[in-house]
Amino acid sequence: MGRAYRVARIAGIDIEIHPSWLLILGFVAWSLSDTFFPDHYRSWSTFAYWAVGISSAVLLFVTVLIHEMAHALVARHRGLPVPRITLFIFGGMSHMSRQPATAGEEFQIAAAGPATSILIALVSAGLGFAFREMSEKAEAILFYLAFVNLALGIFNILPGFPLDGGRVLRSIAWKRSGSFRQATRVASSVGELFGYGLIIAGFFILLAGGLLDGLWLAFIGWFLLGAARGEAANLQLEGVLRRLTARDVMQAEFPSVTPGTPVSEIVHDYMVGKGERAVMVANDGAVLGVITVSDVRRVPRDSWAQVPAQRIMTPRSNVITVNAAQPAVEVLVLLGEKGLNQVPVLEDGRMVGLVTRRELMDRIQLAERLDPVGEEPPAA
Ligand SMILES: [Zn+2]
Repeated sequence: MGRAYRVARIAGIDIEIHPSWLLILGFVAWSLSDTFFPDHYRSWSTFAYWAVGISSAVLLFVTVLIHEMAHALVARHRGLPVPRITLFIFGGMSHMSRQPATAGEEFQIAAAGPATSILIALVSAGLGFAFREMSEKAEAILFYLAFVNLALGIFNILPGFPLDGGRVLRSIAWKRSGSFRQATRVASSVGELFGYGLIIAGFFILLAGGLLDGLWLAFIGWFLLGAARGEAANLQLEGVLRRLTARDVMQAEFPSVTPGTPVSEIVHDYMVGKGERAVMVANDGAVLGVITVSDVRRVPRDSWAQVPAQRIMTPRSNVITVNAAQPAVEVLVLLGEKGLNQVPVLEDGRMVGLVTRRELMDRIQLAERLDPVGEEPPAA
């Protein structure tokens, strides 16, 4: 999807905006100011239409953010951290650090969003009636927010997985069958059908003359179709990784040098010579630190022969490590989140191996090929 930019931090959650969000914000503001409000309210000034249109568009996205915050706060309350929320062209997305552990947990997290949208709709409608006599412009903004949040709440109840309704559907199927994988397969299939349904409906609306509405609906359908398929593929990967620990995917033989080894020797013998991206610095089996390609890049080439490993290594206290018993899924997530190429594996405080991103991906592919179905994770 491309990168999003962090703009705020609310209650410990990073709020990110994807460039596509600005596009949709501009489009909504424009269509409200140019068509929607002039159609519903007569004889305002052009400035008033734009002021109300832009305010409504901004407030709409504030309510979308509140919807996402509702998911995130319920998730956190259940012990499932949400590091960030991304606002993008289709609204918002909360990034959970793991899959929910029980059907009940998933149900609560998913249902919190649409419930919040519908609550916002009711409150806005109430305020709209209260302000009716005082200000037509305040009334216009509040009724618009009520209408659009109601629509948002209803749309999110529809079973298009990974929409909230699809997640609610999965939690119910999960509760009934007791199987997370089977429930995900059911929800993804329904989600795919739903995506196709939207694309077809969009196509008919387009043929009937609703060019923009039709394209928009088809676009959303296409997005949901891809998301439902992605969710099924993710599950496959998780199923494979769930049974592996860091020990299973690490290499027990890792390159190591003594603290006094010159950088030139490390580059020549290990990095260029064997294609290693990281070399451990150890003394009698005790790891003191690690030298990576980026550490080497910081030293001018002509002093490589004089500088010892010890001086440029990242000391062990600053090196991110994993435990040998940690699930491989977590290691993969960690490598991705921290942008690392490798991570040392510890057991009882001693380094027993190294997991590299390249090796981990190879293992995953191999495991997928040998065991494409995977097995049920332990009952949650
Ligand atoms: Zn939601």
